[in-house]
Amino acid sequence: MRDMAEPTDGDFSSQKGSPELFDKIVNLCKRRGFVFPSAEIYGGIRSTYDYGPLGALMLRNVKNAWWKAMVQERDDVVPIDAAILTNPKVWEASGHLDTFTDPLVDCRKCKERWRQDQIDGVCPNCGSTDLTDARPFNLMFKTFVGPVEEEANVAYLRPETAQGMFVNFVNVMQSMRLKPPFGIAQQGRSFRNEITPGNFVFRTREFEQMELEFFVPPPDAGTWHTYWCNERLDWYRRFGIHEHLLRLRHHEQEELSHYSAGTADVEFAFPWGWGELEGIANRTDYDLKAHAAASGERLEYFDQASGERYVPYVIEPAAGATRAMMAFLISAYDEDEVGGESRSVLRLHPHLSPYQVAVLPLSKKETLTPLARRVLGLVKSTFMCEYDDTQSIGRRYRRQDEIGTPLCVTIDFDSLDDGAVTVRDRDTTIQRRVAIDDLVGELSVDLARPFGAKG
Ligand code: ATP
Repeated sequence: MRDMAEPTDGDFSSQKGSPELFDKIVNLCKRRGFVFPSAEIYGGIRSTYDYGPLGALMLRNVKNAWWKAMVQERDDVVPIDAAILTNPKVWEASGHLDTFTDPLVDCRKCKERWRQDQIDGVCPNCGSTDLTDARPFNLMFKTFVGPVEEEANVAYLRPETAQGMFVNFVNVMQSMRLKPPFGIAQQGRSFRNEITPGNFVFRTREFEQMELEFFVPPPDAGTWHTYWCNERLDWYRRFGIHEHLLRLRHHEQEELSHYSAGTADVEFAFPWGWGELEGIANRTDYDLKAHAAASGERLEYFDQASGERYVPYVIEPAAGATRAMMAFLISAYDEDEVGGESRSVLRLHPHLSPYQVAVLPLSKKETLTPLARRVLGLVKSTFMCEYDDTQSIGRRYRRQDEIGTPLCVTIDFDSLDDGAVTVRDRDTTIQRRVAIDDLVGELSVDLARPFGAKG
């Protein structure tokens, strides 16, 4: 049996760099209801996307997989859900108001604007080299709180979720009786007025982040940084990113952010080259000290019994949910032949697939419908299911393969007599008969097998 984590020579995944593949995935996302251009009936709005039914399901699954690994399965991490609009002093103290900028240049010929560090002194639109000097452009979206639009009411949409953890550090530590090392995790929308969004959902102005701030005693920061780099790389592997499409890149000294004592990026081989999925930074005590100085509050760990007192260092694995979803889709896309016919298939990890199970009555005939509906009723409280009784069974299998559904359950006329159904595996296309009474248990076993180790 093929090991999905280790594609063999000639596997479709060796072509991951091709622009054709990217077009196929963008097309599939639209056609099958993963991602639509936002407000398409009005001509859309540049580089903004809406997640369709399958995209909404898959994005939720990506976030759940992260949540399970980072919160549920750990006893040293607690979650929060902080406000998107908060006191602007947060962004002053964090440095975002002054330094969260990209260098903006204008092309004097065609008037397009670019991020200077993304072009080589040549306008990608018209080829002109007549560009203005770069000036800093702040990426935060500004708005006003309340009915009066005046400076005193200015607020910003958060450009990252991380600051929510720093400003709540003491509240969380005290209410949950925590002692470093411990982490605070959060998922949610962030907003950046990117100068050049693009590459589909890779860079958008509104996106979802999954961030952990892990507070540690300062001498242990290096060890924890290495630990989180390994842990996070392993998470992407476990959920199906091919090894050769994944790498950890340590930042050079001159590339480091002002707060960082060491950063490594988890990168993915996108069709246009390596791109960041997640940054894992040793932020030192920069943020807690900055907020302590600005707020006048003590943001430190204090142990009454021993008198021990210190400002923890922070290790931050900061990932993007929407970017991760795109990487999972690209890595999972494959084409092969089944019974002499070519098919496209998303070999997604079963926990990430929009649907885990498709329930397919062989025909629409009334004799089969009640049993098929009964089977759906049995499985749908345990698995996310799609019920489909349109078209030929072959076409329905193709559709489920293309949207990554790992298991199809087919109810045929024999089912009426033997009380059994056919279970078909997406990756191997092997079919087997399973008694309806055992179905939920059997499907659970199938879906829980280590990914890539079927058979
Ligand atoms: P980049 O260099 O690509 O702009 P960054 O280093 O500024 O990213 P971070 O601030 O470290 O990104 O944010 C953490 C994660 O959030 C990124 O690794 C990425 O997955 C995600 N992310 C950041 N900006 C965007 C965006 N504009 N669109 C989609 N995801 C984003």
